[in-house]
Amino acid sequence: MNVSELSAVPEWLPEHLGGEGIEELYPPQAEAVEAGVTEGESLVASVPTASGKTLIAELAMTASVARGGKALYIVPLRALAGEKRAEFETFEQYGLTVGVSTGNYDSDGEWLATCDIIVATSEKVDSLVRNDAPWIDQLSCVVADEVHLVDDGHRGPTLEVTLAKLRQRNPGLQTVALSATIGNPEILADWLDAELVDSTWRPIDLKKGVHFGQAIHLEDGEQHELGVRDGEKPTAAIVRDTLADEGSTLVFVNSRRNAEAEARRLTSTVEGALTADERDRLADIAAEIRDVSDTETSADLADAVEEGAAFHHAGLASDHRELVEEAFRDRLLKVVSATPTLAAGVNTPSRRVVVRDWRRYSGEAGGMEPLSVLEVHQMCGRAGRPGLDPYGESLLLAKSHDELDELFDRYIWTEPEPVRSKLAAEPALRTHLLATVASGFAGSRSGLLEFLDRTLYATQTDEGGRLERVMDSMLDYLVANDFLERDGDDLTATSLGHTVSRLYLDPMSAAEIVDGLESADERPTALGLFHLVSRTPDMYELYLRSGDREEYTMIAHEHETEFLGSVPSEFEERWDDWLSALKTASMLDDWASELDESTITDRYGIGPGDLRGKVDTAEWLLSAAERLAGELGLEWAPAVREARTRVAHGIRTELIDLAGVRGVGRKRARRLFETGIETRADLRNAEKSVVLGALRGRTKTAENVLENVGRSDPSMDGVEPAGSVAVVGD
Ligand code: ADP
Repeated sequence: MNVSELSAVPEWLPEHLGGEGIEELYPPQAEAVEAGVTEGESLVASVPTASGKTLIAELAMTASVARGGKALYIVPLRALAGEKRAEFETFEQYGLTVGVSTGNYDSDGEWLATCDIIVATSEKVDSLVRNDAPWIDQLSCVVADEVHLVDDGHRGPTLEVTLAKLRQRNPGLQTVALSATIGNPEILADWLDAELVDSTWRPIDLKKGVHFGQAIHLEDGEQHELGVRDGEKPTAAIVRDTLADEGSTLVFVNSRRNAEAEARRLTSTVEGALTADERDRLADIAAEIRDVSDTETSADLADAVEEGAAFHHAGLASDHRELVEEAFRDRLLKVVSATPTLAAGVNTPSRRVVVRDWRRYSGEAGGMEPLSVLEVHQMCGRAGRPGLDPYGESLLLAKSHDELDELFDRYIWTEPEPVRSKLAAEPALRTHLLATVASGFAGSRSGLLEFLDRTLYATQTDEGGRLERVMDSMLDYLVANDFLERDGDDLTATSLGHTVSRLYLDPMSAAEIVDGLESADERPTALGLFHLVSRTPDMYELYLRSGDREEYTMIAHEHETEFLGSVPSEFEERWDDWLSALKTASMLDDWASELDESTITDRYGIGPGDLRGKVDTAEWLLSAAERLAGELGLEWAPAVREARTRVAHGIRTELIDLAGVRGVGRKRARRLFETGIETRADLRNAEKSVVLGALRGRTKTAENVLENVGRSDPSMDGVEPAGSVAVVGD
């Protein structure tokens, strides 16, 4: 179907698409149009990676907006929100407005009411529904990207419940669900009352195969010699072979450490293939990477990038990730070794994909578990760049003849698994039952059952009794902890229950925080509060490594009086969890004591992205704790606020006033403080030369800072920086 034949879409769209090089719809896109996606029909599109799902969503959303509606695009990862926004923003020239909702979970995002297309994660949408965002009722089209993730035990239930709520609120809502190829797309279509496009079409051929010994065995029976050199690893031989054909390779491995080691190893393979111009451009990118942060990860990444290879994992800062993705798309990087996060959405096609590790650590007693067929197919689907490569090729690696057969059976000749709802798990139900009652979607036990009947779980199971049993035990928990009140069949949220739901807390986290704060006899210390929030289920704890047990047991004894709530004995089962929380709390305490980022990442064996993630979570949980302290009339709200501000900025107490000024981070605040500028008032009255000296002579920064602190004449014209020893009033 030619784009000029599209009806029911805004009149500017066909020409716009033409400008983007899209003249003919891909077959699954044409099927979607025939199924009525531009006319408001709900649709499930189960199509392979890189087969143009985004355009299906764009057709639905722009047509819906043209009819006077409003569209919501739900992304699975925050990192993808920015990428999607950039794509949709090309519609702004035609008068559409696009907004991304990120940030705090406790606001109602009122400004989004003026947007035609809104991009958000499912957690954010869930929180907007809980906070009664007024524009939710105006939605006419919702798109769920990567909807097969309803199968994810941790985040799936939120997507599932959110879609059910949106559909309950807006009965005519068009639902467009985009999915990788899965075993049972019909059930998703059934659940969402949607038409189904189930296709295996790809814009570029994909050859799947397995490498073993000296040969690549492809699924069509073709074999091809690789010529692995003495002492060479298979991955290196494949990368070398791809390079000989001027192609790039994406290597999937099972841990961050492996991703880093593999990139380092592969530099010796790719380095010789770089031209002088590529070297120069890579050196510039390496410099940008080093500028992002001065951690070991940053340095390692820059070193590898200089030699044409890179690693990519969730421990990287988002700026690092973007630089790597862009350089790979620009074909400057010849190989990227990645953990599976890269397979989930980010658009980074390459000639060849190598799935080096098909098992991952399961966390259970050091065991390994095989990846799902769905995951492996998604990784493989990254192979082949339409218009650039003749075809894509994806390879698994076998170490023996038996493994060669096993890999063909397990992944190449096997359909992806069916997706299954994970809603009947306790933590998911605990959270969503409270939110469903608190935000008015159900007011009784029978109302809850009716609501749950709209979920995928209900569509999928004939075991209704199980959900009901878990529901009843979770309702008992919510009533016992004063989040819900029960009167016969009726259920109402208490004031505490409403607050917890709006704060987006797991009720179990809230119960732990309330209990800890209520048990404090004196003003809690920052470490005590960091530990309190670190042991809630909303914070992922750091793992205890060998040797950690003794170290943190000692720290536990040294700070015994500071912990809130009961401290378990060393013989209790929960001791290990409690110690892991202490490790997390110590890391937050180091950060709030102004330790260097690189010292912290080394000490705790984590990446800078992990540190950021933990700090953000702690900040969110402490602001929730502050609200709960207020709600319960406890006197510790100021202590909690202080701990939150310290962890948010990574500063000691004396810098709190200064670090609140926009443009003054932890390092600048410390340097200003050392010159004697200790407060905002000092900053307003300080000699400009002293301010400029403390800010290392950066005129623009100094002017911004002075403007932000409210100085009437922030100009630094003609000001020379004073030496860092100068003190105000000297
Ligand atoms: P998916 O979401 O299915 O993984 P994308 O929507 O990211 O895939 O599409 C992959 C690429 O294909 C994008 O670069 C997109 O611009 C391009 N594309 C999509 N539809 C067409 C089309 N009909 N003709 C040409 N290119 C297309």
